[in-house]
Amino acid sequence: MSLWDSMKMFFVRRKLLANQIPDGCPHPLEEWMAIRARATIKGNAALRKSIGVPKEMTREVFDEYQMFRFREQMAYARKNTPHYRRKLEGFDIESIRTYEDLQRVPFTTPGELADDPFHFFAVSRTQVKKEFTTSGTSGVRKTIGYTVNDLISKIDIVASALKDIGMGPGDSLHVMFPTVSAWDPSLVLVGACKILGYGSSTCSDTDISVQMETIRNAGSTFIIGLPSFIHRVTVLGSRDADLKSLGIRAIISTSEPLSEGMRDNLEEAWGCKVLDVWGMTEFGLACAIECYEQDGLHTDEANLLFEVVDPETGMHVPPGVEGELVLSSLNAEGTVLLRYRTGDVAAMFDPPCACGKTFNRKLRKPRGRLDLQYKIGLGSKTFPAMFDEVMFADPAVVDYRLEIGKDGYRDTLEFTVEARESGDEVATRLIDAVKGIYEISLGMEEDLIAEPTMRFVEIGSMEYSAKARKIVDSRDNQD
Ligand SMILES: [Zn+2]
Repeated sequence: MSLWDSMKMFFVRRKLLANQIPDGCPHPLEEWMAIRARATIKGNAALRKSIGVPKEMTREVFDEYQMFRFREQMAYARKNTPHYRRKLEGFDIESIRTYEDLQRVPFTTPGELADDPFHFFAVSRTQVKKEFTTSGTSGVRKTIGYTVNDLISKIDIVASALKDIGMGPGDSLHVMFPTVSAWDPSLVLVGACKILGYGSSTCSDTDISVQMETIRNAGSTFIIGLPSFIHRVTVLGSRDADLKSLGIRAIISTSEPLSEGMRDNLEEAWGCKVLDVWGMTEFGLACAIECYEQDGLHTDEANLLFEVVDPETGMHVPPGVEGELVLSSLNAEGTVLLRYRTGDVAAMFDPPCACGKTFNRKLRKPRGRLDLQYKIGLGSKTFPAMFDEVMFADPAVVDYRLEIGKDGYRDTLEFTVEARESGDEVATRLIDAVKGIYEISLGMEEDLIAEPTMRFVEIGSMEYSAKARKIVDSRDNQD
């Protein structure tokens, strides 16, 4: 490391609130949010006067922090971005005091962001340290700009999340993504480990022996990666290797939906818990992480404001009720997004959590995106995750593709399966599992869905791609 790098590292370390979390703190993630909120309250006279600087962080105080940051972010966006200068012209920002008030603030749509991403930049492009362009699951390209402070802030939350799941000195994080082009997740992950003084290793090889060697050499105790990639390596590797012998304490699944079937398989093979992470590129990926209760994901409420709305009316739904997730940045410098309609279906839960966190709201794992639903049979909406759930629950399945077609009036479901074993027995097992999906069984009862079919292909013949669409809908004129 050059002198310049080590000086930079020194300053970043000093800036990081994750390093202010006391040793032995039972809930580092929540403590980190409390530290951040307290710092804001301390630094603002009006806020200090109205709520004081509380020793104990409560939900009420944290709400005040969030609403304050939201107003600040609105004012910042109106002053510095062409998009919000237009959209918020004449808007009474100071009138936004409560969660209910947020409903008066106009939404931002992914389409608006895709049309002109630079109209959401609040700084000049020379001040943007990193630009990420996402193709997105729906195929619309969006460019997001991060300043140095945005990146440090992301490293900060990731560092406190790593502490929260039990990483400490002597631990090492193994980063397991397939070779990726546009965005390198290891940038933030390895950065967070370095700053905390933890070890890290990165390996993109699908060969399990190479992965195991890297894990052993680095003394890895935690793994993070794409679930489909970890699953592939696990299914292919667990035949001749005892993965439990590696002593991994937890696996963190990120950037893709984790089906419960896949989770069960991974937990069984590695002998540890698998924790889910949810995020979107628009908000720097890591936005929520599960605790060991595995009952909802703890959200980064210091940097993000979460709302759930009825997708039709745009109005809030009560806690625990599913709707469309709407996110706002609270501290962004580069790309600012206010009330951004994510298109993700989710529900929010009020604290406390059985893990002991007292004020942080949780997110129920999103089932899927609104624009990635398929109407099959009776017209019940089907999410790709439902098929993941049953297919990846089978220990033989490495990966699969599904083509939805039409035969007369019936919908057809043709699966192509990359599997460790094939034959009639496996096919029957998988077909029964698919028929066990409620929406599919209803459609079959009404004779609107034909018997699903399974075609097996050799392992390795299906090209692994993190972003490949697993489901192809080749029916015409679908509304
Ligand atoms: Zn919890």
